This record gives sequence, C-alpha cells and structure tokens, in this order.
Amino acid sequence: MLIKNQKSKNLFNEAKKYMPGGVNSPVRSFKAVGGTPHFIKRGKGAYIYDADDNQLLDFTGSWGPLILGHSITKIKQNIKKAIDEGTSFGTPTLRETELAKLIINAVPSIEKIRFVNSGTEATMSAVRLARGYTKRELIIKFEGCYHGHADMFLSNAGSGLATFDQPTSPGVPKSVVESTITIDFNDLKSVEKAFKKYPKEIAAVIIEPITGNMSVIKPKLDFIQGLRKLTKQNSSLLIFDEVMTGFRVSNGGAQKILDIKPDITALGKIIGGGLPVGAYGGSNEIMSYISPEGPIYQAGTLSGNPVSMSAGIATLEELKNQNIYEHLEKVSKFLCTGLKQIAKSYNIPIKVNQFGSMVGIFFSDKEIHNFKGISKFHIDTYNQLHNFFLKNNIYFPPSAYEGLFISYAHKKTHMNFVLSIFEKFCKTLNE
Ligand SMILES: *Cc1c(COP(=O)(O)O)cnc(C)c1O
Repeated sequence: MLIKNQKSKNLFNEAKKYMPGGVNSPVRSFKAVGGTPHFIKRGKGAYIYDADDNQLLDFTGSWGPLILGHSITKIKQNIKKAIDEGTSFGTPTLRETELAKLIINAVPSIEKIRFVNSGTEATMSAVRLARGYTKRELIIKFEGCYHGHADMFLSNAGSGLATFDQPTSPGVPKSVVESTITIDFNDLKSVEKAFKKYPKEIAAVIIEPITGNMSVIKPKLDFIQGLRKLTKQNSSLLIFDEVMTGFRVSNGGAQKILDIKPDITALGKIIGGGLPVGAYGGSNEIMSYISPEGPIYQAGTLSGNPVSMSAGIATLEELKNQNIYEHLEKVSKFLCTGLKQIAKSYNIPIKVNQFGSMVGIFFSDKEIHNFKGISKFHIDTYNQLHNFFLKNNIYFPPSAYEGLFISYAHKKTHMNFVLSIFEKFCKTLNE
C-alpha cells in the first residue's frame, strides 16, 4: 500500500528554491528518515491532511503544542475574537494578565512570569536571568537535552542537532560554548565534580526534567533530587526547561509530578495553543531582577501578543479539566502496553518510556538513561518504522530522537489501528 505524495514532492521542490532545504526548521525536511516531507493543508482532531489528500494519524501535535488536537473550536473562537479586536498594540493588554494568572495558579514555583515569542527565547532569557542574578557565568546542561537554538545551548544538544549528528554548529563562538558544561543525563556524580571544580562559578543547571528531544527519557529520582540539593548548596539556580513538559505531563508540569521546585521555569508550546509563544518565570524575588523592575534587560516587540495569548488562555482553560490528563494517561498506556506485547511476541528488543502523553520508543534490550544509550540499531529500526507507518497513514515524528506527543483527540480506536500496523511492521522485520 503506497500512499501518493506527488503533490508534496512538487511543492517541496518548489520550496527548496526559496528556503534552505525547503523548510524553516531542519527536522521537518525528512532528511534523517528519508523520503519527502508531506505538505500539510489542514488538521482536525487527531488527523492531518496533506496536499495529496492523504489522511494521516498525527503523533507529533506540531511537535508538542497541540495537546487538545488539531483545529479545536474553543481555541479558534478565542483567536477569532482577539483578531477582530486587533492583532498587536505594543501596550499592556488584559489577555497577558489572564494567561499569567492561569499559569501562576497551575505552577507553584512561578510567582511572576515574562512572556516571549518562542521556547528558545524563554530558555535564553532564563539563563541571562540566572547569570545576572548570581553574577556567575557558567551553566551546566545535559547531553541530548534541547533548549532551543541559542548559541550557549548548541553543545551536544538533542532534537535537530542530534538528528543530524552535529555536536555543535558553525557560527557558535568557542568562547560562548566554553561557558557551557555538558554532562550525561542522570549522571549526578559528574555534576558534583563540576561544582567542586568550579565553586562559585556556576550560575545555573538547566535541564529538561523529562526529556522530549532525545525521545522520552525519565530522570532517576536521586538524580533530579540531587540537582535540587547541589544547586541550593552552591547558591546556583535550577532551571527547568518545561517548554515541552509544561501543561503536558500534568497541569503543573513535570515539577509537580517530580515534586521539585525549580528556581526558574521556561515554558512554551502548549501555553501558546498552537501560536508562537514562550515564557519564563520564578519567584517574585528572582523575577524582580528583570527590566523594568530590575537591571536585567529583556524585551520583545510582539511579546504577550494578544492573539497568542487568546489561544493560550483557551487551551489552559480546557486543561483545568483533570479528565483530560486521565484520558491522555489511559490511551498512552494502552498504546505502550500494546507495543511492548507485540514486540515481545516477535522477539524485537524494545523499551517504551511513557510519561503521561509523552511516549518514547527505543529499539533496545537495555533501559535508556541517557543520550549515549541510544544506539544506531535503534535509529535504523526507527527510521524503517517511520517509513512503514507513513505508508499506512500514520504520521510519527520524522526523527528517532523525537518522542510521540499524544493528544486528547486520540482515542483507543486510533491506538488499536497503530498496534495493528505495528504488528505488520514487526512481521516484516522478522522476514
Ligand atoms: C521546543 C523546545 C524548545 C524550543 O522552543 P522553540 O519554540 O522551538 O524555540 C526548548 N526547549 C524544549 C524542551 C523544547 O521542547
């Protein structure tokens, strides 16, 4: 069964004439998995529809933001209302306060928040705040964690960098990444060593508390608790990059589930309901360092944009309903249990990491605790799976380093369909 994609091919060839690789974000290009990216025309619920009118069951949710599914009426209504009133003013607007309140009520570590336009801006500004607040320069990050594309994070990062096997990027000054210490995820001993080696020099430890950009990897409890302890002991700040996990793994993010209070939290994706947004927040005391209250400069022409705010407000209002998270947990678990059972019956080595609606599939017989644990065998097998699934109208992320992001629109019937195709896939692997 081969799905048609001639129209997408033509559109892609045209796009390549005008934009590098034909895309505006690298992983979209399908360079890692092979084949041609599908040009998507529209989405509805759990499905997206491409230029050749294929209906694809979507497991990316626009790489995380669309936790309720595609083209959600309540979100669209709120957006339309905002647009009718004007799209941008460059003044304070009521919608900013409304979204700020929704976030602050849900995430206890945040008392004050600043809106920006992307996750990249959020993490970048969070680090500037940490450096300005502590008057220190070094930061610790973890291999395979992705914090957006700012210079200081492009040192053994996840997502697109991992997908294309790049440790860093040309154009990033050595002097900038020299201030970034990169350590294996789940390796507390090395964090301890770094604090010993650079006492009073480390401004912050930044981490994806549950990773979504080297697929889904969970932190060991003593590791994540250890980070909280070490940063406190060394008067350094702990930054949780919850751009992916915020409002996804629970209403209060990963910090609520892990029961850890970071000093600064970066948000994005879901809080923009599918429109460009980012935010960072923390205690009143730390946030008081941000301009104009304090001396640390950070600004944005379109920051707090009323249209983005309206989409975020509609999304977070919906997510107050705990049933949504219960549904997400149930359908995600159902999928994961099925995948494991089927793989086992075909003797395919598999580990499935699930955290709420974030699912990481690894073709491996060993548990995956860090980036180095991800093998070439996994990547090759995942790429085969991606191609096989696409031919069967299932859209998995076009990179072995990205997790699945399940939405409220996904039902058990969708998962049963995926499992039936997965069984066929396992058969072909054994042939
Ligand atoms: C997506 C993501 C970012 C970057 O956000 P952009 O909006 O793409 O700039 C940063 N951190 C994490 C954890 C992300 O998942």
